[in-house]
Amino acid sequence: MATKHFSSQAVWSPHADSLYFPQLSEDIQADVAIVGAGITGITTAYHLAKEGQRVVVIESMKVGMGTTGSSTGNLYAPIDEQLFTIASKHDESTLKEVVSSRQSAIDFIERRVHEFNIDCEFERVPFYLFTTPGTQSESSKIKNEQEAAKIAGLKISTDAPENFPFKLDEIIEIADQAQFNPLQYVRKFASAIKSDNCQIFEDTKVTNVKDGRPCIVKTEYATVKANKVIMATHSPKGIYAVHTAMEPMREHALAVKLNSKLPAPGIYWHMFKDQHYSIRPYKRGKEEFLLVLGEPYKVGHENNTEDSFMKVEEYLRDNFDVAKIEYSWAAQNYKPADALPYIGRSPMEENIFIATGFAADGLIYGTMAGKIFSDAILGMKNQWSKLYSPTRFTPVASAAKFMKANADVSFQLMKDYLFYGDADELKEVRAGEGKTIKLNNERLAVYRDTEEKLHIVSGICPHMGCVVHWNNGEKSWDCPCHGSRFSTDGEVLEGPAYRGLAKPEKLPETK
Ligand SMILES: Cc1cc2nc3c(=O)[nH]c(=O)nc-3n(C[C@H](O)[C@H](O)[C@H](O)COP(=O)(O)OP(=O)(O)OC[C@H]3O[C@@H](n4cnc5c(N)ncnc54)[C@H](O)[C@@H]3O)c2cc1C
Repeated sequence: MATKHFSSQAVWSPHADSLYFPQLSEDIQADVAIVGAGITGITTAYHLAKEGQRVVVIESMKVGMGTTGSSTGNLYAPIDEQLFTIASKHDESTLKEVVSSRQSAIDFIERRVHEFNIDCEFERVPFYLFTTPGTQSESSKIKNEQEAAKIAGLKISTDAPENFPFKLDEIIEIADQAQFNPLQYVRKFASAIKSDNCQIFEDTKVTNVKDGRPCIVKTEYATVKANKVIMATHSPKGIYAVHTAMEPMREHALAVKLNSKLPAPGIYWHMFKDQHYSIRPYKRGKEEFLLVLGEPYKVGHENNTEDSFMKVEEYLRDNFDVAKIEYSWAAQNYKPADALPYIGRSPMEENIFIATGFAADGLIYGTMAGKIFSDAILGMKNQWSKLYSPTRFTPVASAAKFMKANADVSFQLMKDYLFYGDADELKEVRAGEGKTIKLNNERLAVYRDTEEKLHIVSGICPHMGCVVHWNNGEKSWDCPCHGSRFSTDGEVLEGPAYRGLAKPEKLPETK
């Protein structure tokens, strides 16, 4: 039986090495300023600093603690939406390029692990995509994936492996993929590359970026002037056209201890009810965990996110003998309209570069972005820059999703403005609940904490003016339009918004 609990801490976090990166406290200049120290920002810094560029990386939280440190650490050539989607939305040559670029990013990570002696449990493992007797309706997708993987030149097997932890219907196995601890990799990588030429700052929030010669990057305490800026913030901060071509999604993850032995090392993707559950075993010293990720939903569109989290737990208990849930968390990804990420120069700007639309495959795409950016900045040719360029125009491949995403934004805006409010009065908000309420003509978002204290902020997302929705599992205010998320006191948690939810002009009577 599933239970309600949500620790919001990924399995990697408590054991992250306590490495020190200072806060930026005075104005500086650089060749390149990189906003965000996830896998994208740190890999980009590595390439540029190696080529003699003066690099500054600015991170609002701690290095690696964004989505990178909330991922499941799987490195694979296929993609979240399956390779056959690339073949059908684009063509065979695009499919081959995507696979070869992804394979080479795995090799790059392996080389860095050896170069810097990074103890991040990097291991080559097989990747499995499969259906079970209860999920046969998805079998045709496995057959399509077998075909696409063969075309892409991957080494595959369609035989059931020995001691496979599920009863199988159809399967594709791809050899020589990999797994690691993503947080440890990025933090140790950052520590290895930091130098006078490659300065890395934590706890420093960028509050604005202005394109120009030089670009001006404002942080809370100081300003950075740089010839180029890389927005390695997962979704670029501010207003960018790519936001209209992506769907922000959230997924729930659990790390549990089992009463039985762990399955053999590997990446297990179980096709199940129009999604795939992603499962991986993970050993940390003598401790053994099984990680499972599933139940994706569009940010701000799920009324009861606690429920999706409990579905993941139910799935686990149906399939494994669970002893204890140790960690539970959720994280975000941005699904691109044409199934390819956007990496390169921002279409409307001269000196700003963006990397986004990674879906749940961005440990690889972020790694790849580092080389694409450094080649662009250093004036070198890159064989994949055109494929992933944000300026590409793929009307056929993107049309349906683009129309759906944008119709949805317009619909949300209209509906939420016309019918604003989950409640009419403050007393309707019970302890532990969040509700939108219109009071004194202001559209408010109200949370009552478990000690009955009210937290009242504006219900309007400062990014593009949509109305935020309550996320009961994570106790946050989430924007259904472009995926910005805010704490109950209005601070930005993630997404494209720079500023938090405003405080109301006049605080309502709270009795
Ligand atoms: C649940 C889940 C599991 C996943 N598992 C996998 C997987 O197994 N394999 C895989 O390949 N991909 C996986 N992904 C996708 C992958 O984790 C991401 O695509 C990838 O980590 C993105 O890296 P990034 O560096 O671009 O972004 P992030 O790691 O999010 O880094 C961006 C950084 O920018 C910082 N930032 C934001 N705003 C500011 C600001 N104003 N000022 C300064 N800094 C700022 C953030 O704090 C953050 O640290 C998963 C995604 C999810 C949601």
